[in-house]
Order: sequence, then C-alpha cells, then structure tokens
Amino acid sequence: MSAAEADVVRPLQWIDKPENDHTDGETKAAFVDTLELPGWCIDYDRAATITGYAQISVGGPEKCNCDACRNWALTRDAILPREMRALLDRLGVPCGKECEVYHVCRLQSGLHSYGGWYHFVGCVNYGEKEVSPNVAIGPFSMYFFAGGALLPKPFDGLHTVQLDFVAEVPWLSNVPEAP
Ligand SMILES: [Zn+2]
Repeated sequence: MSAAEADVVRPLQWIDKPENDHTDGETKAAFVDTLELPGWCIDYDRAATITGYAQISVGGPEKCNCDACRNWALTRDAILPREMRALLDRLGVPCGKECEVYHVCRLQSGLHSYGGWYHFVGCVNYGEKEVSPNVAIGPFSMYFFAGGALLPKPFDGLHTVQLDFVAEVPWLSNVPEAP
C-alpha cells in the first residue's frame, strides 16, 4: 500500500477502535441459535459444542468408575427421557459425555437421587437459578448458568453454559446398589 493509502486507512481504524474502547474480548459472542424455555433464553453454538466434545473421549462417569457411576454409565440410555436426549442433541451435547455425575443417596421410594452437569458453547441471555423455574423433563430437573465447574480443556476460553441437573431414577444395572 502506498503512503497516501495508509494515511487514509489509519484514521478510519482509529474511528473503529477509539483508545477508550475496552470492549475488545468482552463483547458478547454472536451465537446462531436460541433455546427458549419458560423463564429461560439461551443462545448456543451447536457446531462449536460438537467440535469440543469430539476431543473428549469419555464422560465423567466412565472416568470415575465407582459403583454409582458404573450404574449410571450402564443405564443412562434407559434413564434419559427422549425429550432430554432431544434437548441435548439440539445443543450439540452427546448424552454420554456428562462432565460429572454424582450419586446423592437411595431414597425411601427406592429411586436414587443423582445429579450431574454438561457444558455447551453459548450464553444465558435470560434466566437465573432460583428465579426462573427449573426445566423439568420427566424425572430430570435442570437449570443453566454461565461458565461452569471443571470445564473440559476443549472449551477453554469459549463462552460456555453449564446445564446442571438432578434426577430421581431407578437403579437398573447389576452393579451392587449404592446405599
Ligand atoms: Zn463416581
């Protein structure tokens, strides 16, 4: 570029990025899709989430391998309601790749109280735990928040949302039943 052209370009760049503009890196990422649920509005990027999960070989329960996790891993396909799988699929989350699953206890009903969470690329536009109603799908109850605990490496530096769930589910495997 000639000196004359450079003179023209520089002032324009100044206009685009004034010195007092500190929004770089903080600007809200633009997401392609929006999930709307009662009390919630969540933007997400399915393709980016799928790309991230492609680098994660197994889910949290498989890594832990305690009795409660083994039971979960062996029976999650039967436990997760179709609507929940559809929701996860829409977000780009493989249902077998929970970040963590934890067993709370065997309830008096004979069902087991479990909790766990998934991450996906996106942001919570609207909605907040204990303000918005939990999203209920069958025995699952869930809510969303920005960021997340134990975020897997492939999602480092991305805008992420944690889908946190609790569920009361039967113990369906032959693994010795946890108390
Ligand atoms: Zn475990």
